[in-house]
Amino acid sequence: MSRSAELFERARAVLPGGVNSPVRAFRAVGGTPFFVARAQGARLTDADGRTYLDYVCAWGPLILGHAPAPVLRAICDAAERGWSYGAPCEAEVELAEQVRRRMPAVEMVRFVNSGTEATMAAVRVARAATGRDRILKFEGCYHGHADGFLVRAGSGVATLGLPDSPGVPAALAALTLTVPFNDADAAADALRRHGADVAAVIVEPFVGNAGFIAPEPGFLAALRELCDRHGALLIFDEVMTGFRVGPGGAQQRVGVRPDLTTLGKIVGGGMPVGAYGGRADLMRRVAPEGPVYQAGTLAGNPVAMAAGLATLRETERPGFYETLERRTARLVAGIGDAARRHGVPVTAGHAGSMWGVFFAPGPVRNFAQARGTDTALFARWHRAALARGVFLAPSAFEAGFVSSAHTDADIDFTIAQLDAALGEARAR
Ligand code: PMP
Repeated sequence: MSRSAELFERARAVLPGGVNSPVRAFRAVGGTPFFVARAQGARLTDADGRTYLDYVCAWGPLILGHAPAPVLRAICDAAERGWSYGAPCEAEVELAEQVRRRMPAVEMVRFVNSGTEATMAAVRVARAATGRDRILKFEGCYHGHADGFLVRAGSGVATLGLPDSPGVPAALAALTLTVPFNDADAAADALRRHGADVAAVIVEPFVGNAGFIAPEPGFLAALRELCDRHGALLIFDEVMTGFRVGPGGAQQRVGVRPDLTTLGKIVGGGMPVGAYGGRADLMRRVAPEGPVYQAGTLAGNPVAMAAGLATLRETERPGFYETLERRTARLVAGIGDAARRHGVPVTAGHAGSMWGVFFAPGPVRNFAQARGTDTALFARWHRAALARGVFLAPSAFEAGFVSSAHTDADIDFTIAQLDAALGEARAR
C-alpha cells in the first residue's frame, strides 16, 4: 500500500471523505488522492516521492508557483514580528492601496479570510444599500458555500451531482434567481419580472467553476446596463480572476466597472485571505463606519498580508502577464492539436493564465453545455495524465492555472504527456 493510500485510509476515519474540501477527494475522476509532502516551483511531490507538474496551483492563488523565494522571505520576515495582532498593522493598509491601484473600481476594501466570506459580505452590503433581498446569479457560477449561493452552483457541487445542498433553508434559496451564463436576454427577463426586488447581480466574469467559460463580447457590459436600469448593484466575483486574467483582473480585461468586487486566492498569495471592496459610498456602510456588520478575528493577518503584497509585487515585473499568457496559449493550443490528432472533439480556451478544456465540439457557452461534454473521457485523461506526472484539476468542471514557475520546457513536456495520456484515455 502506498503512503498516500495509507494516509487516505487514516484521513477517512477522521475527516469527512478524507479531505477538507470535497473536490480534493478525486471522486469525479476516480482513484484516490495523493498526499502532498512538499512543493516547489511548478512541482508537487507526494508522500511516496512521486513528483507532478502542477496545473492546479492550489486552485488559483499560486500565480508564482510554490514557495517562491520573495514570498517565502516576506512570510518569514513577517512571522518573526508575530503572526496575529488583533490590532491594525501597516501591511493591511499597503495591500489595500495596492488593490486600489490595480483595480480603480475598488475604492475601499475589507480583508476577510476566504472567498466565501467575501461574497457573503458583498451581498450583505448590496442588500443593505438597496433595501432589497433577492440576488441574481448564473448557473454554474460558484461563489463560495454560503447558503444563498448554493443554488445551481458549479465546481464541487456540480461534481458531486448535488442540485442544492441539504441544510440550505428553502426560504433563503428562494431569494436566489438563476439564469444561464452568457444569456443577457434571460437576465433581462428575470430583472423585468423581479428587478424591483433584486439587490445585486453577481457573476464570475470568466467562469472557472463550470470548467473555463469566457464571457461573450458584450455580455458583461449588458449586465452593467441592466443593473443600472433596475437599480441593482453589479458584483464581479473576481476571487479566481482577480490578478489572474490580467494585472487589473477581469474588470480591466473587459472594460466593465462593477459596483462591488470580491477577491481571494492571489490577493493572499496562497494564505487564507479574501477581500471585498468597491464604491466608497457602499463600503462606508460597513462597520464601524456604517451599520452593516462584518468582522474577523484573524482578518488582515500580518503574515497573510505580507504574502499577498510580495506576490502582487512580483507580478508587476515588466512582461509578467504577457509571458504567462503566451505560455498558457501554447499549452491550450498544444492540447487542442493533440485532441484533433486523436479525433477527439475539443473546445479549449484561456484568459491570461486561467484555462480549460472540454471534450466536446463546442461552443461551450454555459453550464448546461459544459455538463453535456465528455466528462468520462476527461476522468480517464486525468488519471492517465497523473500517471505521467501531470496534475490536472480532478474534475471537468474546474479551470486550470499556469504559474510563472512553469517554464517553456515544462509546457513542452506537458503537451507531450497530455497527448500520450489522451491516446491512452481514448483507447480504454
Ligand atoms: N468565488 C469564486 C469565483 C471561487 O472560485 C471560489 C473558490 N474557488 C470562491 C468564491 C470561494 O472561495 P473560498 O474557497 O476561498 O471560500
